Amino acid sequence: MTAEILAVGTELLLGDTLNSNAQYLSKELAGLGVSVYHHTVVGDNPVRLKKAYADAFSRADIVITSGGLGPTKDDLTKEIGAEYFGKKLVMDEDALKTLESFFTRIGRVMTENNRKQAMMPEGALLIPNNNGTAPGCIISDGGKTLIMLPGPPRELNPMFEERVVPYLRERSDGVYVSRILRLCGVGESTAEDMIKDLIEAQTNPTIAPYAKLNELTFRITASAKTEGEALALMEPTVAELYKRFGDNIYGEGNNLSLARVVVEKLIEKNMTIAVAESCTGGLMASALVDIEGSSKVFLEGLVTYSNEAKINRLGVKGETLKNHGAVSCECAKEMAVGVAKLVGTDIGIAITGVAGPDGGTDEKPVGLVYAAISVKSNVTVNELKYTGSRQRIRGRACMATLDMIRRALS
Ligand code: ATP
Ligand code: MG
Repeated sequence: MTAEILAVGTELLLGDTLNSNAQYLSKELAGLGVSVYHHTVVGDNPVRLKKAYADAFSRADIVITSGGLGPTKDDLTKEIGAEYFGKKLVMDEDALKTLESFFTRIGRVMTENNRKQAMMPEGALLIPNNNGTAPGCIISDGGKTLIMLPGPPRELNPMFEERVVPYLRERSDGVYVSRILRLCGVGESTAEDMIKDLIEAQTNPTIAPYAKLNELTFRITASAKTEGEALALMEPTVAELYKRFGDNIYGEGNNLSLARVVVEKLIEKNMTIAVAESCTGGLMASALVDIEGSSKVFLEGLVTYSNEAKINRLGVKGETLKNHGAVSCECAKEMAVGVAKLVGTDIGIAITGVAGPDGGTDEKPVGLVYAAISVKSNVTVNELKYTGSRQRIRGRACMATLDMIRRALS
């Protein structure tokens, strides 16, 4: 099965809106084993939209559109789509009822042009929209399928997951099953190099690497007649990946994160943690608080940005700062031990570094970060070196420190 994504909207061409729907849909389709070879963006123009439909259907079985389903004149996706299939738009009474009750619920009067959103191509399958006014729909005829979804991601994403995924699954010859391995502590290019042979030889299953901040994921997808067969088919590949990457693989699944693994491990071991942050300025505290249940183990976070704060709150020695500076192995150590002692936790974490863009020296360049972990007063410090923007350096330092905690706990 091949699919194309056709994003409709002049604001996308003007650069006002990032075409994140194309990214989202592509990732989801890849996970379903549907091949995507083209993305198109077209403005709200009937002639060019019609041409875009013809081009896309000349290449693919399925075209998924986003945007242009609204009530206004320039929302043309459905009109031109129906025309392409030679279908008339007819009022869908169910869609109209849903639309009316939506307006009652939000206490707004429904205008005449909102009714247009309840008009559906003849014979189309309706996709209800629980988060907005524009329903989507699917037209399928002569081996070609057009799936139309609204523009706002918070409307498009649930509609895709709840209605389109089952629709595509039902129509594919077999099932596509994915496993997502999550890695940390190994760079993207190193990792890709380590599996070059597997990638080159891949057919079924496929391996798709994806990197974000300090994290890397491998999505392994196999297709087979049944889910069990697909899982069995990918087992040797997954086992090989575990063999090659060992404990750099911190877990599996779409919703897993490094922070979640850390919080779960702390809960399991019944250990408490406190953090003292300098350059990350609360990112670590925030990452821990993001995880529900973290209140059981995360007791306090301090942003000790100035030298005075490091001395007064954490008990870092003035001498240490004078001799080694705030960005140093010694300072990170004293911060970690200091925060654990101050709060009375089993574990103390410290992060101090040069986030840039200014303030770097030859000896201590921008991107140099020290992260320390004190577990029951045993201290380990890692020297980290990053490049990139201030935000990127701070984000990566936070991720690497979470990984340090994870490794210390295993
Ligand atoms: P509405 O009923 O909200 O008008 P619509 O289906 O007509 O929905 P558009 O008018 O095309 O959608 O876009 C509405 C909003 O959705 C845009 O302002 C933008 O914020 C978002 N959006 C549209 N297309 C995309 C896209 N490809 N990627 C990400 N966001 C998008
Ligand atoms: Mg609109």
